Amino acid sequence: MTVKIKLIFKYSPMKITTAEILTIGDEILYGQILDTNSKFISDKLDSLGVKVVQKTSIGDIKSTMMRTFKEAEERADIIIITGGLGPTNDDLTKPCLAEYFDCPIEMHSEGLQHLTKMFESRGYELTETNKQQAALPTACKMLTNHLGSAPGMWFDKGTTTFISLPGVPYEMEALIEKEVIPRLEKKYVLPTIYHKVIKTIGKGESYLAEMIKNWEAHLPKNVALAYLPSIGQVKLRLTAVGTDRAALVDLVEKEISAVTPIIAPYIFGFNGDTMESAVGSLLKEHKKTLATAESCTGGYLAHLITSIPGSSEYFQGSVVAYDNQQKENILGVDPHTLQAHGAVSEATVIEMASGIKEKMKTSFGVATSGIAGPDGGSAEKPVGTIWIALAHDAGVETRLLQLGKNRMVNIQATAVKTLDLIRRHLNQTL
Ligand code: ATP
Ligand code: MG
Repeated sequence: MTVKIKLIFKYSPMKITTAEILTIGDEILYGQILDTNSKFISDKLDSLGVKVVQKTSIGDIKSTMMRTFKEAEERADIIIITGGLGPTNDDLTKPCLAEYFDCPIEMHSEGLQHLTKMFESRGYELTETNKQQAALPTACKMLTNHLGSAPGMWFDKGTTTFISLPGVPYEMEALIEKEVIPRLEKKYVLPTIYHKVIKTIGKGESYLAEMIKNWEAHLPKNVALAYLPSIGQVKLRLTAVGTDRAALVDLVEKEISAVTPIIAPYIFGFNGDTMESAVGSLLKEHKKTLATAESCTGGYLAHLITSIPGSSEYFQGSVVAYDNQQKENILGVDPHTLQAHGAVSEATVIEMASGIKEKMKTSFGVATSGIAGPDGGSAEKPVGTIWIALAHDAGVETRLLQLGKNRMVNIQATAVKTLDLIRRHLNQTL
């Protein structure tokens, strides 16, 4: 009999399980903090095979909370709430949930034990206000928060679930990973979803789409392809949905093997790989070293390179030679070159790249010089005109970039395109 009831409460595999994320806090509405919690939760639910149908942000107002709980229950199977669990008077989520589930708030003995131990181990006095954190609506199951004092709460209402979590991002994240996801997997029959992302650089999404259109047309029905462009790069995300994880992994890997030869020169990695990590790995593999001479990127290129742990193995250093005088003094650029061609010229970046290679005695020297904008261009060299160069033992490679007017976009695009020069040189696909 019990089994039967459980089966009734479990969804059939064909039914899509939906969720709404409700973030609570005046500071979200007033623009004082960015709601990163809902981004994190959406991402986790998506990987779990739960469809997020709505995100709602509301202030710390009782009537709004009560109304929104009711509306969310009508919209979604799972309602995940963050924020407003603290011990102060402005934190109303707990009393509102108690009223919504029509139950009293009582001291949770296990919760109190946990809180007492936590305060003891940190050497803090447990005040009466703190103690109240362990008092919970009787209708909920406690989700132990090992990183903070406000526990999470889980409310079952038939096939609907309300989950309330603290607003502090790292506390919420740990609760989602350790407490919420395993319980959701137990309660709901969820499809298995497998994502793999191919990271590409060097071709815009419409060119890529054209190149792979035949492959795309023959993708199996349960495999979806998404193009996700970002500055200078396009991610191709393959998503397979089914029931057998091993079969889905096989299916996606087979499709990746089929598409790789078509776009091989543009693929720099998969999933979490970045251009700076990919180039770092290549430099290590080839036992090469690198130095940068930066004008318009102002050190951003060096920042990307050094954001990779272990970059000291291949990165020697950088000179930000913003002023022409420094290009001459430190990098040894010939004043006649600057006079004849200007700082933003092929001749100048060649001398900058060669200069830094020689100064720092590296396998490679790269250089950037351009008009990042938004002002400062001319008819001959409009904003977004940027030269990059790579000096190696056999010569210098250069590229002219013609970008737009957005300064930060130009700086970022220049940095990744310069990294791509190194990547393609090492892969011999220049
Ligand atoms: P506390 O016990 O710290 O008061 P709480 O559950 O009451 O926890 P809030 O008071 O709503 O949570 O938020 C605590 C802090 O967590 C906020 O000041 C903010 O820095 C961060 N925070 C809250 N909500 C979000 C959100 N949606 N996205 C990102 N950060 C958030
Ligand atoms: Mg609070």
